[in-house]
Amino acid sequence: MLNTEIDIYIIGAGISGLIAAYELERAGFSPIILESDKAVGGRVRSDYQDGFIFDRGFQVLLTAYPEAQRYLDYHALNLKKFDPGAIILRPGNLFTIHDPLRNPLKIVSMAFSSVGTFMDKIRMFKLTQSLKSKTEDEIFNEPNKTTLQFLRDYGFSEKIIENFFMPFFRGIFLENELETSSRMFNFVFKMFSMGHAAVPENGMQAISDQLKSKLAKTSIRLNAAVEKIDGNVIELSSGERINAGKIIIAVRPDKFLSQMEGQFKPSRKVINLYFSLEKSFFASPMIGLVTDKQFLVNNLVFMTDVSKSYAKSDRALLSVSITKPIQADDKLIEMVKIELEALTHIKSEHFKLEKIYEIEDALPQVEDMKSSISATQTKIYDHVFLSGDYLLNGSINAAMTAGRKSAEAVILSIQPNMN
Ligand SMILES: Cc1cc2nc3c(=O)[nH]c(=O)nc-3n(C[C@H](O)[C@H](O)[C@H](O)COP(=O)(O)OP(=O)(O)OC[C@H]3O[C@@H](n4cnc5c(N)ncnc54)[C@H](O)[C@@H]3O)c2cc1C
Repeated sequence: MLNTEIDIYIIGAGISGLIAAYELERAGFSPIILESDKAVGGRVRSDYQDGFIFDRGFQVLLTAYPEAQRYLDYHALNLKKFDPGAIILRPGNLFTIHDPLRNPLKIVSMAFSSVGTFMDKIRMFKLTQSLKSKTEDEIFNEPNKTTLQFLRDYGFSEKIIENFFMPFFRGIFLENELETSSRMFNFVFKMFSMGHAAVPENGMQAISDQLKSKLAKTSIRLNAAVEKIDGNVIELSSGERINAGKIIIAVRPDKFLSQMEGQFKPSRKVINLYFSLEKSFFASPMIGLVTDKQFLVNNLVFMTDVSKSYAKSDRALLSVSITKPIQADDKLIEMVKIELEALTHIKSEHFKLEKIYEIEDALPQVEDMKSSISATQTKIYDHVFLSGDYLLNGSINAAMTAGRKSAEAVILSIQPNMN
């Protein structure tokens, strides 16, 4: 019989911590989550303020994520999909490329010719087809090279790299040189070609809230910041000491465990500004890409084109992302407004700043990106287990996998003969 009375503590109520709790509940346990913040969700949070929904950093759910399909009820989230493709913005000139990742051969040649060559279209098609036949594990077992190197080796022209891949994937990897592993590029490319980018009708927070609502036997202690772990004892910043049977650390562990210090590279950062305007200047719910490298703005999206709920008023809510290493200050806001005016010819005073986020720890930098990890690899001591996207790759999908694997490892450690 499995001893389900054991006290299992999970540190962190991000996606990975919530999934770990869910899996432990399914096995009969009643875990306790210690979360430093005042709400669950970690990096998948939204603020509901002044009649707007502000996701904490622009982010999307890719509906093809296998783990998201397993754990989320898409219907209840009322997912609002982006149109596939992108709007390319150059000063005073805006045009759409429809569906380059799913139907590259169908893209109208005229529109495509300003971003890539005929052979690029053929190569896109070839890549899409080959990725469709590969499993996630096969993709993540391929040799590790940078995305930029992969694109060049695959034969893509510099034109399409500069005009499409660079701005599109900068906005996803949150770095400027496409030095992220090609494994992640291929995985994301496959996900885009098999599904949609989407947000829940009521913001990304709805994902975290849905996962929380699936927990019936888990206690969640909010505002409970863990300071350190000493053997089986968890010490909170309040001074409270807790004796734990098992501990899952669902956040980067270096701050609690001195032996892990220095093992992680700094995370990727992003700045996200929200502006409201009288109306959207995009004709469809699409991601806009700024191709000119001189610009600070990398990508922009009218969230209200994707889901009307993002603004209660009839204002349009524009989300602008900046991946360049720069500080978020008044000068930046002015520069962004000037850039928006240059790109759209809409006077800068029409862009009303509503909110700004400077997210220091947006994505982990993982050297050896993986799709999964064995349950035993998550175990660092008999009673301490790791979870979180930093173990695999920076995505909601990876956070879910890590959560499940850490829960499996805990269960195995309690009853080692269990399958
Ligand atoms: C701006 C941005 C854009 C992104 N875009 C995408 C995207 O488009 N698609 C995608 O799939 N993924 C995206 N991601 C990544 C995705 O959000 C993460 O991979 C995922 O949410 C990580 O979940 P996690 O549970 O591993 O970590 P976290 O969400 O970081 O959870 C860790 C939790 O631990 C808590 N915590 C921290 N310290 C303590 C402590 N001392 N004591 C107790 N609790 C503590 C934190 O408050 C947090 O709740 C994006 C992330 C950001 C920030």
